[in-house]
Amino acid sequence: MVREGEKRVNETLENRPLGSSERPLRVAVIGSGPSGFYAIAALFKTDGVEADVDLFDRLPTPFGLVRGGVAPDHQKIKNVIRVYNRTAQHERFRFFGNVELGRDISVDDLRRHYDHIVYATGNESDRKMGIPGEDLPGVHSATEFVGWFNGHPDFQDRSFDLASARRIAVVGNGNVAMDVTRVLVRNPDELAPTDITAESLAVLRESNVEEVVLLGRRGPAQAAFSPQEIKEIGSLEGVTLLVSEQEMDLDEISSGWLENGAARSAQRNVAYLTEVAGARAGAGDRLVTCRFLVSPIELQAGNDGRVARVVIEKNELYASDDGTPRPRGTGETETLDVDLVFKAVGYRGVPLPGVPFHERWGILPNDEGRLQTEQDGDVVPGQYVVGWAKRGPTGLIGTNSPDSTATVKKMLEDIDGATAAPDPAKAPGKIVELLESRGVDFVTFDDWTRLDEDEVALGEAQNKVREKYTNIESMMAAVNRLR
Ligand code: NAP
Repeated sequence: MVREGEKRVNETLENRPLGSSERPLRVAVIGSGPSGFYAIAALFKTDGVEADVDLFDRLPTPFGLVRGGVAPDHQKIKNVIRVYNRTAQHERFRFFGNVELGRDISVDDLRRHYDHIVYATGNESDRKMGIPGEDLPGVHSATEFVGWFNGHPDFQDRSFDLASARRIAVVGNGNVAMDVTRVLVRNPDELAPTDITAESLAVLRESNVEEVVLLGRRGPAQAAFSPQEIKEIGSLEGVTLLVSEQEMDLDEISSGWLENGAARSAQRNVAYLTEVAGARAGAGDRLVTCRFLVSPIELQAGNDGRVARVVIEKNELYASDDGTPRPRGTGETETLDVDLVFKAVGYRGVPLPGVPFHERWGILPNDEGRLQTEQDGDVVPGQYVVGWAKRGPTGLIGTNSPDSTATVKKMLEDIDGATAAPDPAKAPGKIVELLESRGVDFVTFDDWTRLDEDEVALGEAQNKVREKYTNIESMMAAVNRLR
């Protein structure tokens, strides 16, 4: 029950403009990856607006794909965490880890406690190829493999039989395909000092993989990988990058496109691949073979029921209406013997309980970051989307900064009108009371900081950057021990 005095105070505060120091904007951000942190930083940086921000994550640990997605041999990329740590030091910031939307807290709870809700939940699942045999044993998504070697709790029960594998097909020509390929062929001694999990390093040490075949459905001029990523594979110790000169003989559409329209990175990719084309494998080297203009059309099982062959169809390019070269099958097929298949054909979002979802695009329907009931439908007042949940799985980590800032601009345009739900009782302490009443053992940023230090210390003892806790139970046991 709201007492008379309290009611008067609340009413008085409600009359203050939202975003003033007397009545700060109360914001819940769901998902603590880059896009969430950039949205919070943008709010804190806005002159003349005071915002109290609570950041929720279903995991006890923050940083989303920076912790669970960036490859362990790319430690420098993870330095961006320093920027997020600075944001987390703001006096109006709080972290609530180990709190899952739909399990511990609902959208309606959030609407009652916050003026604005920002979904920053990324793309937690993977796109399907939609071909026969995709679910055979031995066919894995890059999402699973990357999550597994990065210690993401969702993927620790997966197993990858690298000891029995000689040849692996990696489908897709993006940077995730590069990460997967590099981790598969790199000398495990080079991974040992990183934050790769002890379990996955042990499996990689037992690997007998001799060749990774990269399957790109378009040509080298349309490959989505960054020039430095393919170059890194080409310069790995004990690895030969095989590209046939014939594959580098560009068709007219690609040559024309390279001259007008293609990004500079496409020209650099072609220049590099042309330079290395025709290289011969060094004795004992692991091979990375680039195949272009091929699409898997069927995955076939061997006698043991596991994937044994990829049927690939040769493609040709045609110019789509906007001039972009697109692939189409020629009917000519070939069969490739493989022991495992990794699909790196893109991520997609998963629906959140109580939040609209665009099934076909795998994102939350939105108009420039304002959540909609359906794509091009009504705007849902006071609810917003940032990052991959907003625009799909494109761009580098830094791409999320301007993208989140753009959504925050919309939030601030709406500040006088659209809030998630009117409730004078919105106050910082209330959400804590609610979570405690439900017995939710939430992780604060101080808890995380201690867990972080503990992981680093565990790593130091083994001459590595960190040793991660890889399941929620062990994380929470450590959090409670360190409190
Ligand atoms: P991506 O860059 O979109 O690449 C996906 C690849 O899969 C493309 O080559 C695409 O071909 C192909 N593909 C899609 N559907 C296919 C199908 N049905 N059959 C065969 N091939 C198919 O996505 P990503 O690699 O998942 O990366 C996601 C984002 O994260 C990207 O922006 C990436 O740059 C970024 N990232 C960056 C780094 C880094 O900087 N080190 C590391 C990892 C990820 P088409 O081009 O023909 O569609």
